[in-house]
Amino acid sequence: MTTMKRPVNVARAAGSGASVPIECCQACAHAPLENVLSLGYMPPVNQVVAAGTPPRQQPWFPTDLLYCASCELVQLGLAVDPVIIFPPEYPYTSGTTRLLRDNFADLYSEARAMLALSERDLVIDIGSNDGTLLTSFKNGGQRTLGIEPTDVGKIAAARGVATLQRYFTPQVAEEVRRAHGPARVVTAANCFAHIEDIHSIIDGILYLLGTDGVFISESHYLIGLIERLQYDTVYHEHLRYYSLRSLANLLQMHGLEVFHARLIPTHGGSIRVYAARRSERPVNDSVKTLLAAEPQGDAMRARLAAFRREVMLSKLRLLTAVRDLKESGAHICGISAPSRASTLVNYVGLDADIIDYVCEIAGSLKIGKLMPGTAIPVVEESRLFTDQPDCAIVFSWHIADELAPKLRAKGYRGKLLSPLPTPREI
Ligand SMILES: [Zn+2]
Repeated sequence: MTTMKRPVNVARAAGSGASVPIECCQACAHAPLENVLSLGYMPPVNQVVAAGTPPRQQPWFPTDLLYCASCELVQLGLAVDPVIIFPPEYPYTSGTTRLLRDNFADLYSEARAMLALSERDLVIDIGSNDGTLLTSFKNGGQRTLGIEPTDVGKIAAARGVATLQRYFTPQVAEEVRRAHGPARVVTAANCFAHIEDIHSIIDGILYLLGTDGVFISESHYLIGLIERLQYDTVYHEHLRYYSLRSLANLLQMHGLEVFHARLIPTHGGSIRVYAARRSERPVNDSVKTLLAAEPQGDAMRARLAAFRREVMLSKLRLLTAVRDLKESGAHICGISAPSRASTLVNYVGLDADIIDYVCEIAGSLKIGKLMPGTAIPVVEESRLFTDQPDCAIVFSWHIADELAPKLRAKGYRGKLLSPLPTPREI
């Protein structure tokens, strides 16, 4: 691998009110990047239109995945201004599930054991959301600080988790270090793929970390995404799709060395990565084992080409299953409207004539709105049990096996269909 350098003078989407194409690798500045998947044009997943309003113009953005042959990073082909992706009228609610809570409790136990944390140690969580992760460290006796730009930070503060409501920048990192001293642990769970200028985020993390400090990140895992055909997790919030190798290369550019990595079950398959300043800690075998299992170079290209073909075939298979149902006069609805459902319905072309409505649990902010890019309304889940449609497609299929028994227990008698990786009756 050639020496990698940071991209300079790159146009930023943030503040543009629009989008900018990714013309060189976000991590290492290599160009040209290779197109490995094209899902066509997609609406922003948080674009909310109330059901019953007349259709009006809406932005759609190209949705492509690009591969960097230099640092192995797979990335979105376009960066969209965060004001479009996270509109103020659509407050992000954490929706912390048991799986996520269990995962954070697991992260805490693992980190405490591996790093022998003491009560003097400061733990900082970037993108701390409602404070769920930090609560474990706080209960364990560590000093904690959350950094969270949205109002969700107020929930954390109300729970007693000190939270700074700011966007994380190197400047904020300097202020925090002046006020609180160096951090023993900095965590970033699931925001590490979202933030446009990744290098300044890592600069900020380095400011925060003491000499023996450890950075722990969790990200959706590229290899799992490919293996389980989770192309529906490709949308504009997710700018980067990390393998361990691409993440290690990125951190290495800042003098950080990955010393432990582990696959975890959240979001349908994620990776937890520990990094410290180079040579500060021995590198665990876990790193070598995971790296050895990851394809790279031509092997990665071949894997991505197979993925591209499988994505296309999965669309045709789902359409075939849906066609058979519709020819017999069936009514079809959808179960749950996570962001990934927007990619699925728009890529496959499921519209309001095919899907009557999508059910969400009572209280969801999506109820009464339309699925992005379509005229499919989102309704309260009780409709499923009163209407008994012939088939329900589970859009949160990554947890389908957990959902199905609950829907049966509540009385749904129709067919439950998992759309991916291959349409499958549950
Ligand atoms: Zn690169």
